[in-house]
Amino acid sequence: MSNIISGKVLSKEIREEVKVQVEGLKEKFNKVPHLVVILVGDDPASLSYVTAKERACLRAGMKSTLIRKDDSITEEALLALIHELNEDPDVHGILVQLPVPKHIDDNKVINAIKKEKDVDGFHPLNVAAVHLGQEGILPATPKGIMTMLKSTNTEIKGKQALVIGRSNIVGKPAAMLLLKEHATVTIAHSRTTNMKELALKADIIVAAVGRANMVTADMVKEGAIIIDVGVNRVDGKLVGDVDFDAVKEKASFITPVPGGVGPMTIASLLQNTVECFLMIEDK
Ligand code: NAP
Repeated sequence: MSNIISGKVLSKEIREEVKVQVEGLKEKFNKVPHLVVILVGDDPASLSYVTAKERACLRAGMKSTLIRKDDSITEEALLALIHELNEDPDVHGILVQLPVPKHIDDNKVINAIKKEKDVDGFHPLNVAAVHLGQEGILPATPKGIMTMLKSTNTEIKGKQALVIGRSNIVGKPAAMLLLKEHATVTIAHSRTTNMKELALKADIIVAAVGRANMVTADMVKEGAIIIDVGVNRVDGKLVGDVDFDAVKEKASFITPVPGGVGPMTIASLLQNTVECFLMIEDK
């Protein structure tokens, strides 16, 4: 029977810490971190994500602005808006909610955001920093994953870690952060042929695929730590990538969905906004 790593509880603690930090920043700099979120189009899932981010910022005492643009906006106009925000001294963090419409090159959007205002940690220079083990803004979801792992007080050094999924926003950076903590890391993906064999050897499994029940109990070693990043809707219910009820009987620690990695992503975004603020204001 495993311990549940509650993203709800842990993220609340982080949000409280950030709130206290923001009060201190207000006193010292006479201003608070300001996050600007750009939402292009009216995808309901994206809208609910940005609303949650905005609410969390405001609750932490930060300033938050949502700029909504019609999905007919040109790439040129979107890039011009980002450049304007890059130069605005009142703005400390810029986040463009992805995906953007197909006629806009998301790489151009990511590259346009000034590195110091890149709260998502997607800019190539921030990505490079993670790979080189240098200081940089970490992408929020992998950062949240590492916070959850560390909350278990389990030593990561020397452990076998399996990351399932190799996306730029979750799988690859999560693998790099585990490597930084001296885990022996394997990255699996859709072309991996021996998933069960790899999974059974893993002390830590990070599942970031987007397929319900992809990690089943017969794939999990007794006592493994399971981080479930997946978000899937099955019969109207939100579930992760892991067969939670069965796997929790074998794992030592497991994250639930909902209430796991999701809230940690938002808490990490708040931490990143503070970090960007300090890079800009505390020179
Ligand atoms: P993504 O870009 O679609 O990447 C999915 C990865 O899973 C790919 O690397 C893909 O392999 C791999 N994959 C697909 N089918 C597979 C299979 N049958 N076996 C093994 N690997 C397989 O997704 P993402 O953005 O990383 O997100 C992954 C999941 O996490 C989604 O459910 C997403 O909603 C969720 N998510 C949650 C949060 C949060 O805060 N809770 C944040 C971000 C994402 P290939 O590279 O070979 O195609």
